[in-house]
Amino acid sequence: MALKIALAGNPNCGKTTLFNDLTGSTQYVGNWPGVTVEKKEGRLIGHRDVIIQDLPGIYSLSPYTLEEVVSRNYLVNEKPDVILNIVDGTNIERNLYLTTQLVEIGIPVVIAFNMMDLVRKSGDQIDTKKLGKELGCETIEISALHSDNTKKAAELAIEQATKKKGELPHVFTGSVEHAIAHIEESIETLVPAEQLRWYAVKLFERDSKATEQLKLSADTKAHIEQHIADCEKEMDDDAESIITNQRYTCIQKLVADTVSKKHTSEQMTTSDKIDRIVTNRILALPIFAVIMWAVYFISVTTLGSWLTDWTNDVLFGTWITNGATAGLTALGASDAVISLLVDGIIGGVGTVLGFVPQMILLFLCLSILEDSGYMARVAFIMDRIFRRFGLSGKSFIPMLVGTGCGVPAIMASRTIENEKDRRMTILLSTFLPCGAKMEIVAMMTMVCFPGSMFVAPAMYFLGLGIVVFSGIALKKTKYFSGDPAPFVMELPAYHIPTVKGVLIHVWERAKAFMIKAGTIIFTMCIVIWFLMHFGPTGFLPDDIDASFLRYIGEGLSWIFKPLGFGTWQGAVASVSAEVAKEQATATLGMLAHAASDDETDVAAAINTMFGGSKLIGMSFLLFNIFDAPCMVAIATAFREQASRKWGWITFGYQMMVGYCLSLCVYQIGAWVSGSFTFGTVVAIALILAACYFVFRPNPYAKKRTEYRREAERA
Ligand code: GDP
Ligand code: MG
Repeated sequence: MALKIALAGNPNCGKTTLFNDLTGSTQYVGNWPGVTVEKKEGRLIGHRDVIIQDLPGIYSLSPYTLEEVVSRNYLVNEKPDVILNIVDGTNIERNLYLTTQLVEIGIPVVIAFNMMDLVRKSGDQIDTKKLGKELGCETIEISALHSDNTKKAAELAIEQATKKKGELPHVFTGSVEHAIAHIEESIETLVPAEQLRWYAVKLFERDSKATEQLKLSADTKAHIEQHIADCEKEMDDDAESIITNQRYTCIQKLVADTVSKKHTSEQMTTSDKIDRIVTNRILALPIFAVIMWAVYFISVTTLGSWLTDWTNDVLFGTWITNGATAGLTALGASDAVISLLVDGIIGGVGTVLGFVPQMILLFLCLSILEDSGYMARVAFIMDRIFRRFGLSGKSFIPMLVGTGCGVPAIMASRTIENEKDRRMTILLSTFLPCGAKMEIVAMMTMVCFPGSMFVAPAMYFLGLGIVVFSGIALKKTKYFSGDPAPFVMELPAYHIPTVKGVLIHVWERAKAFMIKAGTIIFTMCIVIWFLMHFGPTGFLPDDIDASFLRYIGEGLSWIFKPLGFGTWQGAVASVSAEVAKEQATATLGMLAHAASDDETDVAAAINTMFGGSKLIGMSFLLFNIFDAPCMVAIATAFREQASRKWGWITFGYQMMVGYCLSLCVYQIGAWVSGSFTFGTVVAIALILAACYFVFRPNPYAKKRTEYRREAERA
């Protein structure tokens, strides 16, 4: 039997960093709370029989949030052999609150004081030995980020796994201990001896999950309730608060005895100084706007596009295309095979891969921002905006994750306890363009707006705008109305990102991107090549106009007529993009290769498909960026909404936004250049309707204040 070590600790204390260090895996390390929502398993390097379990970060073992439930069920029901409790050394007081609960579960606990590099730098002193003694567990000082002492921590955990547990710390006062002792007595026969304390404390707190689990008889229940009530009367407080307060009091005393801070809390740290500017009420948003603009400007417009031009025109456009054609001809391959490989695979997959340099740069910039701690501030800044219309900043974290990929973004919505807010976050979390959508942005910028400084950043801010205005409008509907949940976010100290950390991040994302190109996109390109080169009359080497693809496109093009790109090419590209967003670029790339003999000027060929019109190009871009995400993300949304109805609402809302936005931009644009049609009327009506839903007075606001008044009276 393998030995199991569970990593438990507060959010953002470095669990995943340690997990990656110990197991050699490359799980997502985010410098903000709420990244690991599922538990992850790995094997300790050098010890194949030791399994390490990364758990979601939690502040306590009360079952209020999904992370707490996941971690607690694992610890209590699956009983790992030992808990390696990671404590953020820069924030001991808050972290130990969880520790006092972990030691009650009945599993040996080893405390790893992490971030010791920061603690040492600040000059603070922690007597970890003494702390361990008081808490009844072994301790070790580590720095997960610098792999300092991490192996030893794992070895210490292995060694402790088989040892008997140390003495429990004296957390509670006499009368509480008295009640707990009585509860222990009455459930002695129901639970294993080592879990007795845990269950007794939980029953004392009237924890519903523990009560259910033990299936107590009515008699026992009444007996226990009597002891709790007596204690509550004596302490003049409710049981749950008694336990919480006493844990904090105990920790305060412990910390006073063992930690000496060099700086008093009145002195400002460097992070505080930076935050004074970066999260300043007036400056925060302009700073954020400039930073994000710079990110997209560098990665998509300037540096990135020079690299991409080279990969597209020289590498794929000339070298590989010519090389492959020459090679295949020399081998005596038939025209069909050459066409499949050159127009199909190189034209399709090659176009997608051609944008990889831009994606890598984008991921690099975002990783640096995230790892330095800035993105956590963004969530904090957005909280101030979101809060105004009733959503908490917690909802913004999934959206930040979504700039990489929509699937983990939707998963990250799990951390939101309130069901309404969670549903709304799933619905909105894919509006900030993901990496694959940025590929379409990069291509359309190249095709219609070469060198533009604003198109790429504009898509990001437009996504943000859609989120904010959708949030405002949705919060005024009956279902979503309600006050925002409180959002407490620990702002991690700024640090210079490590090269290793950032590179792992970028590599993981770029790898996923390339794997997708080699699998889904590859398959799709073959399918599209066949549809493009076969028709009712059989194989068509050179006549796309008689192909199945064209018939399919024509059949669908009416849908996109009001958006301006109602050609069969536009329809085929948009529909194929639902498989994976970057397929839009692959499909357009293939069509361009087939349409033009000059392989180096794909951009011009695509531009012709959109009638050389910037307006139509923009409309195509807007629709494909802001409609529903790819099918994998849609499926994830259905699963996470856990309701077919809500899955369809999510999908329908996203499609509606993409379609209407694109329609309005195209029709108003056409109107400006002198063409007033029925479409213009529809666009104006849509804009007025959107304004109405966003700016109307909240019909449920009055009720809410009434509730509040009632609550105050009570
Ligand atoms: P988790 O939420 O507990 O899984 O925490 P993560 O592993 O995602 O780490 C949160 C942040 O803390 C990341 O930015 C890490 O780079 C950083 N971090 C983790 N361990 C250390 C450490 O020992 N020293 C320093 N300075 N930073 C660390
Ligand atoms: Mg984590």
